Amino acid sequence: MLRILQARLKQGYRTIRYPCESPTLPTLYCGKPEWEAAKCTEGCRACIDSCPTGALSKASGALTIDMGRCLFCTGCMDNCPAGAISFSREHRLAARTREGLVLDGRAFQLAGALDEQMRRLFGRSLKLRQVSAGGCNACEADINVLNTLAFDLGRFGIQFVASPRHADGLLVTGPVTKNMELALRKTYEATPAPKLVIAVGACAISGGVFAGHDEVLDGVPTGIPVDLFVPGCPPHPLTILDGLLRLLGRA
Ligand code: SF4
Ligand code: SF4
Repeated sequence: MLRILQARLKQGYRTIRYPCESPTLPTLYCGKPEWEAAKCTEGCRACIDSCPTGALSKASGALTIDMGRCLFCTGCMDNCPAGAISFSREHRLAARTREGLVLDGRAFQLAGALDEQMRRLFGRSLKLRQVSAGGCNACEADINVLNTLAFDLGRFGIQFVASPRHADGLLVTGPVTKNMELALRKTYEATPAPKLVIAVGACAISGGVFAGHDEVLDGVPTGIPVDLFVPGCPPHPLTILDGLLRLLGRA
């Protein structure tokens, strides 16, 4: 017993103080993409041609970057001859609308909170049913990390539950394969209203690397309205946590 207490004292307090304190991110972390228009050479399409998911496009010479498709692979940055694209350290990336993930030069709007009535219902206790709809499981791994003592998701009153009957909403990952469509729709129907839907990762938002494949639906399908979009492939656990806290008006 004494040795257990000694080990516990030696370990100290490991839970990060987010959102009160800024997080320490790994050196290689790639956050919100940025584009310097002045450096861009007219007619150059190197970044667009290098993107595996069609996340980049140019209209009237201006670049748009769709974070809902982006894999944060840095291919566009590495292939840009002018060094016009870079990735910032900004981990706060979640948006309330699909359009909100498209960076087109205007100020990025971080996810806003639910309305007051919904915040009263879910602000202190939010139970989520996770639906893994055909991805590679990296998104799920980073969601699992949120339950470790480093992040301690439970301290915010957010928990994952086994049954949609006990849930306030769904957290969906994966491109939604055709095999998973019925299961997802049934799980959504089994969740009592009012309910939330959170799409985590490029797959659930747009199909990600699987977009356009015959056997996937390119993300959460119509009929299942999404309340929060968390981009990334996979999103960093802090990006997911920040999105959830913003939705609940707690960040
Ligand atoms: S970082 Fe995103 S936008 Fe750039 S090439 Fe990769 S997927 Fe495309
Ligand atoms: S978004 Fe990326 S990490 Fe998440 S399931 Fe799809 S391929 Fe895997």
